[in-house]
This record gives sequence, structure tokens and C-alpha cells, in this order.
Amino acid sequence: MRISDTSRVFNFSAGPSALPFDVLEQIRSELLDWQGTGMSVMEVSHRGAEFLELAKRCEANVRELLSIPDGYSVLFLQGGATLQMSMVPMNLAAAGDVVDYVVTGIWSKKAVAEAQKFCTANVIASSADQDFSEIPDPASWVRSDDAAYLHYTPNETIAGVEFHYIPESGVPLVADMSSTIFSRPIDISKFGVIYAGAQKNIGPAGLTLVIVRDDLLELAPKNLPHLMTWRAYAESGSMTNTPPTFAWYVADLVLQWLMRQGGLDAIAVINERKAGKLYDAIDVSDFYSNPVRKDCRSWMNVAFILADSSLDAKFLAESKAAGLTNLKGHRSVGGMRASIYNAVPEAAVDALLAFMSEFEKNNR
Ligand SMILES: *Cc1c(COP(=O)(O)O)cnc(C)c1O
Repeated sequence: MRISDTSRVFNFSAGPSALPFDVLEQIRSELLDWQGTGMSVMEVSHRGAEFLELAKRCEANVRELLSIPDGYSVLFLQGGATLQMSMVPMNLAAAGDVVDYVVTGIWSKKAVAEAQKFCTANVIASSADQDFSEIPDPASWVRSDDAAYLHYTPNETIAGVEFHYIPESGVPLVADMSSTIFSRPIDISKFGVIYAGAQKNIGPAGLTLVIVRDDLLELAPKNLPHLMTWRAYAESGSMTNTPPTFAWYVADLVLQWLMRQGGLDAIAVINERKAGKLYDAIDVSDFYSNPVRKDCRSWMNVAFILADSSLDAKFLAESKAAGLTNLKGHRSVGGMRASIYNAVPEAAVDALLAFMSEFEKNNR
């Protein structure tokens, strides 16, 4: 990994977020003439041989990276993770059905609010009373009888709270993996549906990845609009209508880059180390702190607050001047947040640590 252009910064944005430098260079180099077509990838037909090959390779790489077993469909949609918060209940539940939601942050709260429009959505556990600083112990979850599915958010991007295990469900398990997918290996066979907006660990905004167990494709009510059914995408190779070709192209390059890094086993080691360094530095300091319980701290989104919040603006201005951008925490929680997705190099974390140490020295 190299950051050669002096104008490039280390970008800690929560999303859209950093893309691998090598990928950006490849995009630039082949922008005017993609694959000898004499056109950019944005100008070719999505049904042409070259793009179909890209789509095939991209799906194959998703399957290989995640070791997806037989019996699952891999879909490429639009509408972001937010549309999936609607499509999940639309495709899996009928009006009278009960569905279960675990609420560990703002994204899972949004998901349950959406499900409530279609069926009876029960919040079976919530950490709202703890300001979303922990995950309620699964032994305490009050599960519904006959829930059509159980939904949870493995990584809550805003507070930086992550499940480091897969909960037992007994019913189809549905996960919003927007900010954790491809950060480490996962056992796909435990899931009914996984969805993720691309703009964190996959590629640019505009593309949404959905992985769905094939038997669940049959549950959608017949009167559901065609584009709201996962089945439509499964039956058409995700080409029900014109797909977001440029975003898909970049996602394909990002996944090829991830393969070159050694896949998910290799990236997981790096991710755990990157996050660990930051949490260690925050924990030994009384100048910075992280409120999240240690066993549920996110590898991808490291939130921290300054003991003296009147220094926040100064921290942000000086870090930005040092080439470390987008460290401001989400408006709902304040403080700082460093999003350190796969494409954020370890050198960026090291630079942030050096800056934080220096800033503490100068301002305590
Ligand atoms: C970013 C994010 C979303 C929202 O994604 P969109 O693609 O903007 O709809 C939803 N859930 C989680 C966990 C996220 O991190």
C-alpha cells in the first residue's frame, strides 16, 4: 500500500469511505478505454460480453472470499442498506407475521421501524438504556414464538459496537453487515439473509450486496412489485433493469484487490491489529476514552471522546491540517470516530496515533 500523491489524505470517513489506492489508479488508467472497447466502463452495455464477464467474476469473488456454500444467491441491487430494511420484511413476512429485532444502535432502530410498517416487529432486546455501549446478553433476549426471522446489526457503525459472535437463532437470521462485511471470515451457513451497502468495505455508493438462502426467495407475496423482490434479481443475474454499472465495476476491482491481500483470513489479522492499536492507546490515556464495553468494540469504527470536549473543534482542525480527515463523530453521539475499513492502510492508523499523542501532549 502506498499513498504516493502528496495531495491524498488519510480518510477515516464512515461512508462513503476510502477506496484502495491501487484501485483508484487502475480506474484512472483504464477510464477512457476499458478492456479495449474504446469506451469507458460507464458507456458499455450491461448486457455486452465484457460487462457480463465482470459480473460473473465479481460474483465468483464474493463467493470465494466469503466461502459461500451452495444454496445461496448473491445479488447486486440499488437503494442501499436502507432499502433492504424494507425489502427484508416485504420478502420474508406476511402482514400477520411476527418478526424479532435486536436493537444495538441507530441502524437497527431504523430497521425495526421499517419492519413495523409491514408486520409485527418485536424488539426482543435493546441496549438503548446503555446508550448503545454494549450488546445485550443473548440469554436475556425475549424471543417471540414463531418469528418469521431474527434481524440484527453485527456492526453498529455509529457507536462502534460489534458482535464478535453469531447469535443462535433457530429461525432465518438476517444481518445488516454494511460496515463489517469482508472484514473477517464469517460462517454464511448460519444466515438466511445478509445485506450491505457497498460504500464501506465493498466499493462506491450506489450498489447493495444481498446474499440470500435460496428457499427464502420463494416467500415473497405475489403482489410485491417486481423490483422489490429478491427473486427478480436472482432470476436475472441482477440485471432485472440497468444495474449501477460503474459502482459494480469498482466493487469488482476492490474484491480483486482484497484477494491479492490474501483474502479475509489475512485482512482480519490486519483489521484486528489496526483496531487494537487504537483502543490500546485510548485506554491507557485519560485524555481520550471509548465508552463501548470491551468485548463488543468494533474493528471497523473506533469512536472516542476527548475528556475536555471544548477541544473537539481544535482536534478536528489540527488533524485535518495533518492530512487526517473525517474524524468527526456522528452528529447523534458527538466526539470522534475513526472508521478504519479494509482500504484504510495501517499507516493511516499509525499516523493517527502519532497525531493523538502529540495533541494530548500539547493540550493537557
Ligand atoms: C451505512 C449503513 C447503513 C445505511 O446504508 P445506505 O446504503 O446509505 O442505505 C445501514 N446500516 C449500517 C449498519 C450502515 O453502516
